Amino acid sequence: MRTRRDFLVRTAQSGVAAAAAWLMPGRLLAQAGVGSPSGTQSAAAASTNPAVQPNPDLPQQLRTAAANEKTKTTKLTDTIFLLQGVGGNIVCQTGPDGKLLIDSQISTGTHHLLDALAKLGDQRLKLLINTHWHFDHTDGNAELHAEGAFIVAQTNTRVRLSKPQYMTVYDVHFPAAPDEALPQATFSDGETLWVNNDQLNLVHTPDAHTDSDIFVHFNRGNVIHTGDLWFNGMYPLIDLSSGGTIHGMIRGVDQVLALGDERTKIVPGHGPLGDKAALERYREMLVTVADRVAKLKASGKTVEQAVAATPTGDLDAVWAKGSIKPGTFVALVYDSL
Ligand SMILES: [Zn+2]
Repeated sequence: MRTRRDFLVRTAQSGVAAAAAWLMPGRLLAQAGVGSPSGTQSAAAASTNPAVQPNPDLPQQLRTAAANEKTKTTKLTDTIFLLQGVGGNIVCQTGPDGKLLIDSQISTGTHHLLDALAKLGDQRLKLLINTHWHFDHTDGNAELHAEGAFIVAQTNTRVRLSKPQYMTVYDVHFPAAPDEALPQATFSDGETLWVNNDQLNLVHTPDAHTDSDIFVHFNRGNVIHTGDLWFNGMYPLIDLSSGGTIHGMIRGVDQVLALGDERTKIVPGHGPLGDKAALERYREMLVTVADRVAKLKASGKTVEQAVAATPTGDLDAVWAKGSIKPGTFVALVYDSL
């Protein structure tokens, strides 16, 4: 069977371009020994498509970085914790029913994650929820399943993990995940779990960052994990090749904003812990860019011309801090309208 790991071994290269690193701060890439561009080129590297930031070696870069990054734990409530390493933010809930995790980050960092979980108490790991199919949120699935986690996700997460995937934005191929990494229970629109004396609402937000996104609301804990609907403080990735759209993303953010109060702790897929005020600012940015790009498109501008018009020029000082470049974000918005 062709596993993801076999694939990565075959495609592993050193000294590849870090400029388009996926969702990872430069500091971590530096720690991982990922150097500056060395002339490694892919077919798409020569592409003029402004919606592509080629980085076919990204999975291996993330695995190298994750092996060296200890997990940082932040207490959100007495029983809910934010766990950060390389990859998407993880939330852990503890209690008499055992430990529940949201997302699994990168497989090479699982031992760091397990070290952090051990410090939260001796309950067994019982349940893993995936917010969507992306590698940096699901690569640790098989390892956590082996630790005892039953895996739950939206239907399209299982569908996409079951088959090879290609992400246009990074020109990167992912093989099908092994069976032990696949969600064991799936749902379409939503699911409710009663775990550790709290009610968890798992809500599908269609056609948003991908077609497999959910957010998770801890009703009693007053915590929400948004998955990759939210990149806190930066332009987000919209994965068009997985069914993502800017308007779906805005609708998903609106669903989150309709919940909770000013004390709600909101965990983004990437970036620091936030709240409703920060998520409102992000929503305003998304709507502003969507409106401006829609006007450019309606006036007959090509995607290249829309990017050249720099419609995010006054926003970049605040929002261009992540791995998605302004021109890439504009092109992704354009192509999804
Ligand atoms: Zn993602």
